[in-house]
Amino acid sequence: MTQLDLKRLSFATLCVHGSGGVDPQTGAVSTPIYQSSTFAFHSAEEGAAIFAGEKEGYFYTRLGNPTQAAFEREMAFLERGEAALATGSGMAATTVIVAGHVASGDNIVASKTLYGGTHKLFGSLLPRFGIEVRFVDAGCPEEIRSRADGKTRLLFVETPANPTLRILDLRMCAATAREVGVPLVVDNTFATPYYQRPLELGADIVLHSATKYIGGHGDTVAGVIVGREEFIRTARFELLRDLGGVISPFNAWLLLRGLKTLPVRMERHSQNALQIAQFLNFHPKVARVWYPGLRTHPQHDLACRQMDGFGGMIAFELKGGREAGVRLLNSVRLLTLAVSLGDVDTLIEHPASMTHSTYSPEELAEVGISDGLVRLSVGIEGVNDLIADLDQALDQVPD
Ligand code: PLP
Repeated sequence: MTQLDLKRLSFATLCVHGSGGVDPQTGAVSTPIYQSSTFAFHSAEEGAAIFAGEKEGYFYTRLGNPTQAAFEREMAFLERGEAALATGSGMAATTVIVAGHVASGDNIVASKTLYGGTHKLFGSLLPRFGIEVRFVDAGCPEEIRSRADGKTRLLFVETPANPTLRILDLRMCAATAREVGVPLVVDNTFATPYYQRPLELGADIVLHSATKYIGGHGDTVAGVIVGREEFIRTARFELLRDLGGVISPFNAWLLLRGLKTLPVRMERHSQNALQIAQFLNFHPKVARVWYPGLRTHPQHDLACRQMDGFGGMIAFELKGGREAGVRLLNSVRLLTLAVSLGDVDTLIEHPASMTHSTYSPEELAEVGISDGLVRLSVGIEGVNDLIADLDQALDQVPD
């Protein structure tokens, strides 16, 4: 691969071949799993030099591992960042980013529509450490400006947002973050780098719950952070080292394997999701559908400007409210009633009582998560089978 100009290759080719090529030591085409917690030094002097940061080298998997490094190289390349750090979960990625920017007395300005776990970390745990999180409508630059002050250290957003599929204008968020003098952090889990590259739009740090589309098969919990070399180095050697939320070599390998099929899966997720969104949009028992690929989505034009595709996530509201939602969830046969998302299987869940049960009833109402809202993570199965299952389940929902 060294003779190829990687920048000229398509995203799909890079996903399959990777930026590093075959394993230089063995020629292995699939990156080996270095399932080792510790690495031997050639001498006491070398050990001391590696520990002092004077020499590059692996020594303990909490601070780095060759399989993990291979995954990090690919993610940095695909997100167009300088460097990446893999973590044990998406929440560990968020924790490391926060720990790298705030101290007691500081604050974070964050979008009020976030994954429920992130919202809980921000709203309940961080305040216990003297860190205030100011939730804003991140689509409104005036609100961001008015809530930020000299103690603000980060602007944190998620787009498309979980579960409402609200799209934020990342160029606008980046410009506002620059104005108030803080880095913009974007949770890019829903879009993946195949459909959205926030660093190209002005963001400073990107994170993923790699548990989702990056892994893609519902078998791994992991996270990843992409950003500037200097921050990633600090995050690895000063934050993750102490916080400890590391990824295992085997999970890093599963993610490397997931990346190879990311473009193919994302295209299929998107095609299926668009057809299902159209089906739901015309269904008499459905009040409203949120899918960025539908022209009726309030930020459809924005999604077209900043994304290369719309992904596999749909939210929809049943006319019959919560009772109808419960009946639907209990009536599906092929769809899997489960949280998480981005898997090859189609998953269906109820945000208000599951992934976003961490929000208070008032907070749910404020961000538009009603009792009748159902979230679908559309898989890669045959779309007609999925529609048929939804159709029969909707038949059982009372009018
Ligand atoms: N970000 C988003 C958008 C998510 O949906 C999730 C989990 O569902 C997370 C972060 C947290 O990731 P993890 O469950 O891998 O810790």
